[in-house]
Amino acid sequence: MGSDSSSPWPTPAFAPLEEDLARCVHCGLCLPSCPTYLVTAKEAESPRGRIALARAVAAGELPLTAAVAAHWERCLECRACEAACPSGVPYGRIIERLRAQGSPARGSRLRRALRRATLRHVVGRPRVLRLAGRLLRAYARAPLRPALRLAARAVRAHRLARLDAQLPDRPAEPLRPRPAPPGAGPVAILPLGCVMNELLADVHLAAIRVLEAAGWRVATVEGCCGALHLHDGDPEAARRLARALIGRCEREPDAVIVLDSAGCGAAMKEYPHLFQPGTRWYSRAQAVAARVRDFSEVVPPETLAGSTLRLRATYQDPCHLAHAQRIREQPRRLLQAIAGLQLAETAGADICCGAAGIYGLLQPELSSELISRKERAVAGAAVEAIVTANPGCHLQFLGMVRERGLRTEVLHLAEVLDRALANR
Ligand code: SF4
Ligand code: SF4
Repeated sequence: MGSDSSSPWPTPAFAPLEEDLARCVHCGLCLPSCPTYLVTAKEAESPRGRIALARAVAAGELPLTAAVAAHWERCLECRACEAACPSGVPYGRIIERLRAQGSPARGSRLRRALRRATLRHVVGRPRVLRLAGRLLRAYARAPLRPALRLAARAVRAHRLARLDAQLPDRPAEPLRPRPAPPGAGPVAILPLGCVMNELLADVHLAAIRVLEAAGWRVATVEGCCGALHLHDGDPEAARRLARALIGRCEREPDAVIVLDSAGCGAAMKEYPHLFQPGTRWYSRAQAVAARVRDFSEVVPPETLAGSTLRLRATYQDPCHLAHAQRIREQPRRLLQAIAGLQLAETAGADICCGAAGIYGLLQPELSSELISRKERAVAGAAVEAIVTANPGCHLQFLGMVRERGLRTEVLHLAEVLDRALANR
């Protein structure tokens, strides 16, 4: 991979592979599925444009400046383009590497260092994360919270107000690692993750009850999968977290690894991308990745026989389920198996909601525009609940509902199934 010697940003080893970039034939068929292109109508904010910039940088025709890196940074990593591309361009792998390559050129050094330190030393360290989670949960229940929310709005601290709107009111206490209960039946390992366990542990509890109803014995393991770090262009931190999680999953070598977070599931299915082919870690990553399944893949619709729930709901596809894992039908089939549930389809259900990890903090304008488009689509369906299957989307929809004063519940697929099963 070439680099321009006059560039102030040397090309690191973790740059996109030349053969991956070369697969793009510039046909443009991916453009109508790209949310950032749909919003901006700019070529440089499209998959084709971002790949062209990467090729120019690799060929030494363009220095890797902050402006170039900003186009890569504005990508949501939703991978709708990858699903639409007839040439099989592995866009997910390309953009992960572009994020790492462009990382030194992005934003102020201080902000970059702060973000990286937070991801590495808070999100990536279970003990520190537990402490941060405790503080957030205390804030979520604090009587002063409404006053603080008004104050944030009054001083136009929009990002803070937005974060506050996304915080659940009464987050359950996080789950702890536990072995599978004794007995007959296959074992499923549920990785608890990072932010999800601290803020949406109720979803894990619902997922465990549904998995048990489907005949699984569920073990839980602690630890972040590293997806947020990888998307932030920090493959070193992602690898460290992946190694730890691979080690924990290997303690139950025959178990299926089940994720109730689409982003974590996609990251774990692609763990081999983090390691050099032919190395021991590559083989271990391959073995673990082969056992990873999404929650909706391991709960057969027959589990819902006799269940009932009167609810008009829409299912909004998480990008990392629909595009990265190509799972669209299974969640819908599960919802359709519930007597009394009306499933309303909306236009653009598989277009990114603008959550995309910490994208809402880094690109608030684009993120707001995308969630506003979702709101308009969902409003037309007059639903009582928005159902999704990824913590980032869940919190983004929660923020939307709160900020607009909508009377719509936001539920994870597992919570809907759990409620329906309770009515059997
Ligand atoms: S990424 Fe795929 S769909 Fe998009 S322009 Fe390139 S070849 Fe065409
Ligand atoms: S990953 Fe999503 S936002 Fe990024 S280029 Fe592809 S379609 Fe556009």
